[in-house]
Amino acid sequence: MTNHEISAQWLPHPAAPNGALSIPDTPGIPDAPNAADTSKAADIPYEPDVADASDAPGSFDFPARAFTCACGLALPDETSAELHAMELNLCTACFGTTRQEPIPGYTRPCTACAATGRRGPQLVWELAHAEAERVITLPLIRALLPHRPFRLSELSDQVRTHLGLPPGRLPVGPRVRDLLLHLQSQGELALLSAPARLLQGTDVVLYDDPHWVRTA
Ligand SMILES: [Zn+2]
Ligand SMILES: [Zn+2]
Repeated sequence: MTNHEISAQWLPHPAAPNGALSIPDTPGIPDAPNAADTSKAADIPYEPDVADASDAPGSFDFPARAFTCACGLALPDETSAELHAMELNLCTACFGTTRQEPIPGYTRPCTACAATGRRGPQLVWELAHAEAERVITLPLIRALLPHRPFRLSELSDQVRTHLGLPPGRLPVGPRVRDLLLHLQSQGELALLSAPARLLQGTDVVLYDDPHWVRTA
């Protein structure tokens, strides 16, 4: 039987990337589609929104990644690695490893497959992300914004209550975070929190459950 173990390795980068990103993050809280447990943070990983280098904002200049599999199949690029993962029924984001390294030197549980490493949960969670985008809208967020400083988790809880969503049903936290970052970029909100973590060698900044406040 052929042994498969796909791995992705960041290639060394000659210079640190330019440009700053402000990314809310709470490392270590796993996504849990259809989670049976009711811990309220189940679907709120405040993760950097840089699933891979090609998704990263333009100010980033990430090094390329090299892909290999223990079976010896040539994997010249990310697409070929993803296709091989699909054949093996593995998550195409973490290649079955259950962890991602979205930025060189920063690893986290895979958010695409809820850290299962499998393709099935990845597809389920993709649908959940699409549904979250459909039901959690900008007007809804604007309507729920408190008039005092508030935390991401607080507003996410409010959205969940408002929509009657059980924890772990949809990725509420990441969707709310994206909309808050949008409102921040429009000048409607200001970020109050100081970064919890700076990533060495990059300008990426991570936040634990950040505070925002309305500017008007
Ligand atoms: Zn293989
Ligand atoms: Zn995965």
